[in-house]
Amino acid sequence: PLVRRAPRRAFPRSTPEQPKTLSNPALVQFKGVQKTYDGLSLVVRNLDLDIRRGEFLSLLGPSGSGKTTTLMMLAGFESPTAGEILLDGRPITKTPPHKRNFGMVFQNYALFPHMTVAANVAYPLTVRKVPKADIDKRVARALDMVQLGGKGDRFPSQLSGGQQQRVALARALVFEPQLVLMDEPLGALDKQLREHMQIELKELHRQLGVTFVYVTHDQGEALTMSDRVAVFNDGLIQQIDIVDRLYETPSNRFVAGFVGDSTVLEGTLGADDHHGRCELVLPTGERLAGVNVNQVQPGSRVTASVRPERIEAMLTAPAANDSNIIQAAINDVIYFGDHLRLRCAVAGQAQATVKVPLGDQAPQAGQPVWLRIAPQFLRVYA
Ligand code: ADP
Ligand code: MG
Repeated sequence: PLVRRAPRRAFPRSTPEQPKTLSNPALVQFKGVQKTYDGLSLVVRNLDLDIRRGEFLSLLGPSGSGKTTTLMMLAGFESPTAGEILLDGRPITKTPPHKRNFGMVFQNYALFPHMTVAANVAYPLTVRKVPKADIDKRVARALDMVQLGGKGDRFPSQLSGGQQQRVALARALVFEPQLVLMDEPLGALDKQLREHMQIELKELHRQLGVTFVYVTHDQGEALTMSDRVAVFNDGLIQQIDIVDRLYETPSNRFVAGFVGDSTVLEGTLGADDHHGRCELVLPTGERLAGVNVNQVQPGSRVTASVRPERIEAMLTAPAANDSNIIQAAINDVIYFGDHLRLRCAVAGQAQATVKVPLGDQAPQAGQPVWLRIAPQFLRVYA
């Protein structure tokens, strides 16, 4: 009944702003690409992926999910076992790496230690036989771009880790490639510098308008920088979407758990209205209306999740006709400066995390609490 009475407007479609690059034609296309190293297991299982011209696309996933392999096939250092990769509509599967003309930055893509910063950055131009006067101008511009103007005469060992990585970036950009590939380029930097470089990279992407493909296992990093994110697991793209949609509407349990914080409720599926709304039945017999994301059949075991900031914590008992509420008890109150995080005991479930704004009435450990979850934020997964 909860489900059937829910009015349509209780499920507003969010319409986040689309990045302009989303309507650009594809620069790169993966078509049915597979990869096995040992002839037995596919580490990339069936990859169909369009990379739009000018976009900042991140490949996000846990270690071993196939991100680097995908990037290496695009770079030309690995070849697909099956399928094809197209650049501007033409197959490049047999083109060697240096003829693809992509810029590349890797976590351990070392600079040449015996060469100055300027010579390192000049290297891609030198091998392309660009005239000397042009080289000097373009190296100076590339170093300015990464805010290392004036550091050209130094040697890499005289620079900090962050500066060295900026040199690597200047070297990747100096020959004006149409596509720049990066594999965990900030992985070795400390948190503060990493966050600073994330902003710089995003700004650089905006200025240059070239296409960036960026591999990371860090979901915060992917959300901060990207136009779109492709979430990898087990050699498959689980979801590819603009960042807001990835966070607000994960398409399966894996993505919901990997991207952002979630509070999870286990149960079985009750009624289903065949229009995406359903009822989650908890082990206690409590029922909550939610979204049937994977079109699960009634009676199936399901996992539901909700973002901790989408749960409303109430410290007084709700009215009898108030719906979509479960009763819990506060185990812990953690102060985060700009908000509080409650860790709540829920019968038959793992602890529930709730983010609450700072208010006049501070919740206390040991207090009962009622958790209200609006149906559109309770996502039920197979
Ligand atoms: P990710 O970058 O997401 O961590 P990788 O693409 O590096 O994942 O690895 C995917 C899988 O392929 C892993 O199981 C890894 O061990 C395996 N793998 C990667 N590179 C090689 C290689 N050169 N030879 C054999 N197996 C590899
Ligand atoms: Mg990797």
